[in-house]
This record gives sequence, structure tokens and C-alpha cells, in this order.
Amino acid sequence: MQILVIGAGVIGVTSAWYLNQSGHQVTVIDSHQAPAMQTSFANAAMLSATMAAPWSAPGIPIKALHWLLQTNGPFKITSQAMRSRYFSWLLQFLNHCRQSKYLLNKQKLVKLGLLSLSELQALKTQLNIDYSDRHLGTLQLYSSRYKAQAMEKDIDLLHSLGVSANILSAGQCQQIEPGLSRCTRSFGAGLHYPQDATGNCRLFTQSLAQHAQQAGVKFIFNQSVNKIIEHNHCFKAVQTEQGEISADLCVIAAGCHTVNLLKPLYINLPICPIRGYSITLPLTVPDASNNPQSTILHEDTKIAITRIGNQVRVGGMAELAGYSQEINQKRFQLLEQTFKQLFPFTKVGSAHDHWFGFRPMTPDAIPRISNTKIKNLYLNSGHGSLGWTLAAGSARLLADLINQQPNRLNYQDYAL
Ligand SMILES: Cc1cc2nc3c(=O)[nH]c(=O)nc-3n(C[C@H](O)[C@H](O)[C@H](O)COP(=O)(O)OP(=O)(O)OC[C@H]3O[C@@H](n4cnc5c(N)ncnc54)[C@H](O)[C@@H]3O)c2cc1C
Repeated sequence: MQILVIGAGVIGVTSAWYLNQSGHQVTVIDSHQAPAMQTSFANAAMLSATMAAPWSAPGIPIKALHWLLQTNGPFKITSQAMRSRYFSWLLQFLNHCRQSKYLLNKQKLVKLGLLSLSELQALKTQLNIDYSDRHLGTLQLYSSRYKAQAMEKDIDLLHSLGVSANILSAGQCQQIEPGLSRCTRSFGAGLHYPQDATGNCRLFTQSLAQHAQQAGVKFIFNQSVNKIIEHNHCFKAVQTEQGEISADLCVIAAGCHTVNLLKPLYINLPICPIRGYSITLPLTVPDASNNPQSTILHEDTKIAITRIGNQVRVGGMAELAGYSQEINQKRFQLLEQTFKQLFPFTKVGSAHDHWFGFRPMTPDAIPRISNTKIKNLYLNSGHGSLGWTLAAGSARLLADLINQQPNRLNYQDYAL
């Protein structure tokens, strides 16, 4: 079949690869000049398959109110966003904060995450892709042992899926991340997920796009899709500024913008753009033992510190502000300050790359890997804060769905 993939982020490129490998003629179209130029550009670099959890979680509504009252808290919401269509998204989000829904959603995410980890490993072995990956787990820091122990339902769920997750004392955390032993911001305990990994999402996406091109995938850059054209409820073509492109089947992997392409077709996919920030710092002494070794997620601020090669990426914050490009410089200062408090003896250069992006977030945190009511129009969208983590598994699931192959996951769990 001739398949058109809209979007060359990590989700579109992995989708294109798996579809190409199963014998289809694939074309990827993107409005930017290269792959991974939008949300996949400089995310927090966590491949946190086993730590994966929906943001819509019990206790989050209360915490969110508390964060909103802080001047530079991890969560912000503008009044403009409240007045707009995101209000109904927020109500759905609150509904998914119930314990029963949370655990169901978490299970779906972890299962997809585990599939993704094994697919990513297979891709690395097959193609020898270098994406500065490390396999040292994720360490989640809590202010007290009591708070870490409150995660017991999550830990039980993970153990039932055969996943390791261990509560550690502050001293044990420092053994895993020696740089924390000098930190000036105290913590009481940690939760360690040893199966998780880290890696550079942009590097991976751009390398995989090169392999895909060599394998016959065609990339069209600098062209926006304005409209999906259907006839008698069957996909026909896409309309771009430079004319129509027809295909047998189309996959929309346009991140946050998937919503805009679906709306004229009366397909409702609740994706809300949640803005986040990152800074990337060069390590002056890359071999120093007190440098961050893997990902450290500081629970109180929800800021993640990740080692990528000779750099450290610090990312976080959640702002519900539509697509506003107005950057809050204080966010970058907070990222830097938290890094310095946790790793005061890590030496970094003065050139810091600043970035912000929009997470394509569904209220339940579940991506939609699905067919639609339009025949031959498929989705691989809505990966929220976990798109890099879930990319390879999502692409495998999508390809199996299109090829009508069985998959160890349940297609219905990710359906529209
Ligand atoms: C601060 C921050 C930290 C994060 N940290 C992590 C992390 O540590 N681990 C993790 O797993 N995830 C993380 N994420 C989330 C992850 O980055 C995203 O889920 C992922 O990048 C989404 O990929 P995507 O391909 O769906 O979207 P994108 O990367 O945004 O790609 C969509 C592509 O579609 C194209 N497009 C859109 N509309 C059109 C159109 N009409 N025509 C043509 N092309 C179009 C765009 O140009 C773009 O290239 C983070 C996100 C943020 C913001």
C-alpha cells in the first residue's frame, strides 16, 4: 500500500520505519525543514517505561491548587486557557484522577512502555543507532520515606507486571547517584526503577529518518497539510499549500496539531498542548563521578535531570496556556537552580541551550493508536509527556493494526 504519514517527530518517523519494514511504500510529510523539530527536539530524554504514570492521578487536583498558588510552581494555567476549549479537557482530566481509572491507565502505559523498550533495543541492535543511550534506570526523589511508601499501589501494580521498583533510603540513592551526596536540597527517600533508560530523542529520530530514507521512505519537508480529503467516508488525499497528495492510507502523527486536522472531519480527539521547558548544559569534566549518571526526578518540583552523553538535560514544568510563545524566563532559572541544588559539585560550561515545547496531552494520558470512522485514516497521536518513551512500541502496534497482525497488547486499550 502507499501510506502517507503526517508528522516527522519521533512518533511519525518510527511509524514510517515500521510500515516501511512491513512492505509498504511510505511518504512522510512535515511542515518543518527536518525531523524532530517540534516537541521531539529537546525533551527530558527519559525512557521511563516502568516509571510511566498518567499525570491524571489521585491527589493531583489538590497538589495542582497548591502549585498554582506558588509564584514559580511546576504547574501554571492562564485565565485565557480556562476560558477556552481546554475547560472540558480539564474536567475529563479530573475524572481520570480517580484511583481506579488511574491504575487502569497506568497499566496501559507501562505495558506499552515495556513493548517500546524491547522494540527500541531491537532497533539499536539492527541499525546500530547511536542516540547517547544509557541503561541505569530512573531515580525518583521524595522528601520523606512516608511519601515514597505512599506509592505502594503503584509498586504492587508494577510487581504484578514483572517490573522492578524499589524504595531506597537517602543513602542508597547517593550510592546510585554519588553527586547527590553533596546536595543542598534535602530528600528523605527514593524510588528506583532499574529497567528504565535514557537517550537523546532528536538524535534517535534524525538517525532513524536517515535509515528510513535509505530503505525507501520518501520525506517531504517544509510543507503543511491543510486538510484531509475523504470521499464516502474513505481517505483519499491530503491538501497541502502545493497541491494534493493522494495515498491508499494515511497516518496522522502530528503531535498537538492532530486535533486541528481531525476537527473538520468531526472526529473529536481531546489533545491539549501542555508547555514544558528544558535547558541543556555541557559537562566540563565528563568523567567526574559526581556528575548525574542517569535520570533523577525530583518529585516536589517535578523537575527531571538526565545525563545525555557529555551533557545534562534539565526539564520540567507544565503550563496550560494554549500555544502562547511568550516564554517565562524564570522557568529556566528554576531549572538551573534545582540542578545546582541537587548537584552542586558538577561542573558545567556557561553555554546553556534553552528550549520549550508543547506536550500533546490527552486527559487520561493514553495515546490514541487507532483507526478512525474514516476508512484508511489512522492515528498515532497524544503521547503527552511520554512520546519518546512510548514511540517504538506505538509504531509497532500501529503497523500490526494496519497489517491486521496480532500484537501482545490489546488494540482496544489505545483506540479512539
Ligand atoms: C519539556 C518536555 C519534556 C519532555 N520529556 C520527555 C521525556 O523525558 N520522555 C518522554 O518520553 N517524553 C518526553 N516529553 C514528551 C515528548 O517529547 C513528546 O510526547 C513527543 O516528542 C511527541 O512526539 P510527536 O512525534 O507526537 O510530536 P512532535 O515531535 O511535535 O512531531 C509532530 C510533527 O508533526 C508536524 N506537523 C504538525 N502539523 C502538521 C501539518 N499540518 N502538516 C505537516 N506537518 C505537521 C510538526 O512539524 C512536527 O514535526 C517531553 C515533552 C516536553 C515538552
